[in-house]
Amino acid sequence: MPIRETEAMVLRSHPLGESDRIVTFLTRSVGKLRGVAKGARRSRRRFGSNLEPLSRVRLEYFEREGSDLARIEAADLLESFYRLQEDPERAAVLACLAEVADAFAREQQEDEAYFRLLRAVLAAIRDGLDLERAARYFEVWTHRLHGVLPPLSSCARCQGGLSGRGGIYDRREGDVLCRRCAPQRPPGSVPLTKVSPGDLAGRPAEGRPGALGPLAALAEALFFDLTERRFKSYDVLRSLRRGH
Ligand SMILES: [Zn+2]
Repeated sequence: MPIRETEAMVLRSHPLGESDRIVTFLTRSVGKLRGVAKGARRSRRRFGSNLEPLSRVRLEYFEREGSDLARIEAADLLESFYRLQEDPERAAVLACLAEVADAFAREQQEDEAYFRLLRAVLAAIRDGLDLERAARYFEVWTHRLHGVLPPLSSCARCQGGLSGRGGIYDRREGDVLCRRCAPQRPPGSVPLTKVSPGDLAGRPAEGRPGALGPLAALAEALFFDLTERRFKSYDVLRSLRRGH
C-alpha cells in the first residue's frame, strides 16, 4: 500500500492499549479519517503534542487492507490551537466545533469544503472573532454543506417570505413554515422570529443582541433530529456558563 499524504485537523484522540492512540482527523482530501498512532502514548518522540485536538498537521498514513483504521506514519505540526484552549470558555466552544465536525464530516470521501470551513472558523477565532458568531456560523454551514439545512428565507408550504413576522422550524416536518401556515406552534418547534435572512445566511447583522439565539436553538434541534444524540460538548459549555 502506498503512503498517502494530506493536510488534516485533529478532531479527537483516545488511548488504545498501553502505548497507542486512535486519532480521528478531518482531512483535506478524504474527509474523516481514523488511524492508529503507534507509540503515541508511550513516547512523545514521534508525535510530540501534534495529536492534540484541533492541531493542523501534515499527515502521512497507510491504508490498511480490510480495516477502516489507517496507520499514522507521521503528523507534522502546521498550526497548534493549544494556546487558544487555555481559556476555558474558548476551549469549550472549540470542543463543540470538533464534536460537530466528527459527527458530520463525510467518512473517507472528499469533504474539502468542510475542512476549509473548520480551518477558517478556527483562524477567525484565533484572530478574535466573537465565539457566539463563530459557533453559529460553523453550525449553519455544517448543515448547509451537508445538505440538511432547510430553506430559511421562505415558507416550505406557501413559499411566502419570512422576513416580516419570522417563522418556525417544525421538527416533525423538518421544514421552516410561516406563521400563517403554522398558526399554532407544534410541540418542539423552534421559533425563528427576529432572525433576518442575513443572520441565517451566516452574515449576522452587527450589534443585535440575542439575534443569534434562535439560530443556536435551530442548530441544536437539527443536530438532535439528524444524529439522535445529544452533543456532550454543548452540555459542558452550558454548565461552564452557568458557573458550575
Ligand atoms: Zn406559509
